Amino acid sequence: MNPILSVLKNHFGQLCPGHAQCPSLQQRLSLLEQEREFQRMQAEYLASHDALTGLPNRNLFRQHAIECMEAAREEHQPLALMFLDLDNFKMVNDTLGHVAGDALLVEVSHRMRGILGGEGFLARLGGDEFGVLLRGGGVGMFFELAHAMIDVIKDVYDFGGQRVSTIGCSIGMAVYPDDGEDVSELLRHADAAIYESKRAGKNRVTRFHPDMHRRLVRRSQLEEQLREVLRTGEGLSLALQPKVRMKDEALTGFEALARWRIPGQGAVSPMEFIPLAEETGLIVPLTHFILREAIWRIAEFERWGWPELSMAINISPRQFSRPDLESELLRALEEFRVNSGQIELEITESTLLEGNKVIDRMHALSHLGFRLGIDDFGTGFSSLSYIKRLPADTLKIDRAFVTELEHDRDDRMLVQAIVGIAEHFGMDVVAEGVETSQQRDILREMHCGLGQGYLWSRPIEGEVALADYLQRSFTVADYLQRSFTGEIEPINTGIATDGEGNPMPMPC
Ligand code: C2E
Ligand code: MG
Ligand code: MG
Repeated sequence: MNPILSVLKNHFGQLCPGHAQCPSLQQRLSLLEQEREFQRMQAEYLASHDALTGLPNRNLFRQHAIECMEAAREEHQPLALMFLDLDNFKMVNDTLGHVAGDALLVEVSHRMRGILGGEGFLARLGGDEFGVLLRGGGVGMFFELAHAMIDVIKDVYDFGGQRVSTIGCSIGMAVYPDDGEDVSELLRHADAAIYESKRAGKNRVTRFHPDMHRRLVRRSQLEEQLREVLRTGEGLSLALQPKVRMKDEALTGFEALARWRIPGQGAVSPMEFIPLAEETGLIVPLTHFILREAIWRIAEFERWGWPELSMAINISPRQFSRPDLESELLRALEEFRVNSGQIELEITESTLLEGNKVIDRMHALSHLGFRLGIDDFGTGFSSLSYIKRLPADTLKIDRAFVTELEHDRDDRMLVQAIVGIAEHFGMDVVAEGVETSQQRDILREMHCGLGQGYLWSRPIEGEVALADYLQRSFTVADYLQRSFTGEIEPINTGIATDGEGNPMPMPC
C-alpha cells in the first residue's frame, strides 16, 4: 500500500479498534464522519498522485509549479522547471515485460529522490516522463543536479540477475524569470528544450533558448506543408545514388534517397523532414510514396537494359515496426513485377534498439527474399553481440569513419575491424561517403567490397541525368556484348542518344 495511505489508515484504525464496540449514536456518527473524511482524502490523494511510484502526478505538479513561481517571484529567486524523459525504456518493457518496466520506474524515482534529497519537487508526469521543480540556488546548481540525475539514471539496473545498462535520460529545463513569465510558458519552453535534448542524443540536459521556439514554429509550418505535399505528391521525388563494386568500380545498384522541394523556398534536407515525418506519423504515407517510386524504378531499369541492379531503400524505425510493411512491399513488387532479391532494406542501429520484435521482423522479411542492410554502422548504440543473431546481408560503414581515412589511424583501425566483422559473418560491406581516390585505395586494400560516395557520383535526380549516368556506366566491352546479343535496347528518354536514337557508350 502507498505510504501516505497506510499512515491515514493507521490513524483511523486507532480511532476505532475493531469497530465492533463503538457504542453510542454520537460516536457512530462521528466515526461515519471520519470515514467519509478518510474517503475524501483518499480520493484527493489518488487524483493527485501516481499509484505506481507514489509521486505527485501531472495535476499536482502544475499546481505546485504555480505556487513555487509565486514564492520565487516574492523572494526574487530563480525557479527551474525540468522535464526528464527516459531513453530506451520501451525496450525494457518489450524485452523484460511490464513488471520489470514498473520496477524500473520505481527504481528511477528512488534514484532521483536520492539526488534531490530535501531539495526540489519531483513528480511522475506519465509513462516514462518525470517533472522536477527546483527553487533557490542558481542556474549552476540546477545544471549540477540535472547532471547528477543523468548519472544515477544511466547506471546499471538489476532485475533478479538480469542487468540492464541501456537506460538513459534527456532533460529539458526552463528557468523563471529568464525563460518564461508564467507556468504555461515555462512548461512549453521546457518541452521545447527536452525536444532538443532528445534530438541531440541521450543523456543530456538542455536549457531553453529562444531559437528553439523559432525552430518549433518552423517545424509546425513544415508539418503542415508536408501533409499537403503528401496529399498531392508534388514536390517529392527520389534521388538515386550509385553503389559500385570496389575492385572494378562496376555499378551494382542504387540507394533511394528522398527529396522534397518547396516552390519558392528550395530543398528541405531529409535530415529535417524524415525525423519530422517519423514524429508526426507522416512517415507512413511518405514511405508508401518512396517504396512505390523505388520499386517502379527497378522495373524501369530493367526496361532500359539493366536487369540486375539492386535498390537500397531506407526504412525508418517507426515504419519498420509497422505490421503492414511486408504487405505494402509485396503489393508494389507484384504491381511492377520486381524480384524481392533486388531490394535491400536499410535500417539503422537505433531501429535495432527497439528489441526482439525487430529481429523477428528482419527474419520475416529475409524469408520473403528481401536483403537487409545495417546503415550508418558503428554510430549507434547497439551491442555487438546482436550481430550474430541478425539476418543482415550488408553492413554500411558510416561516412564519419571514411572521411578521415587518409589521416586518422584510429579510423583505419575501426574500418578494418568492421570489414573483418562483416567478412566473418558472411555479410557484404559498403563504405559510405567515399570522396577521394586515396580513400578508395585504402578501402580496396582492406577488402571492403562495395562503395558509395561523391567519388563515383552524387545522388542523381531526374530521368535525364539517370539515363545519362547509366549510359556512361557501360564499359565498351559490356555494351558491345549486350547490344550484340540483343540484350539491351536504347534508353528512350529523348536525350543522350546519337542521331539514330542509339545510346552512346562511354568507356569508364
Ligand atoms: P543515409 O541513408 O546514410 O544516406 C547517405 C547520405 O549521405 C545521403 O544524404 C547522401 O546524399 C550522403 N552522401 C553520400 N555520399 C556522400 C559523400 O561522398 N559525401 C557526403 N558528404 N555525403 C554523401 P541525404 O540524402 O541528405 O540523406 C540523409 C539521411 O536521411 C540518409 O542517410 C537517411 O538516413 C535519411 N533518408 C534519406 N532518404 C530517406 C528515405 O527515403 N527514408 C528514410 N527513412 N530515410 C531517408
Ligand atoms: Mg541509407
Ligand atoms: Mg548511411
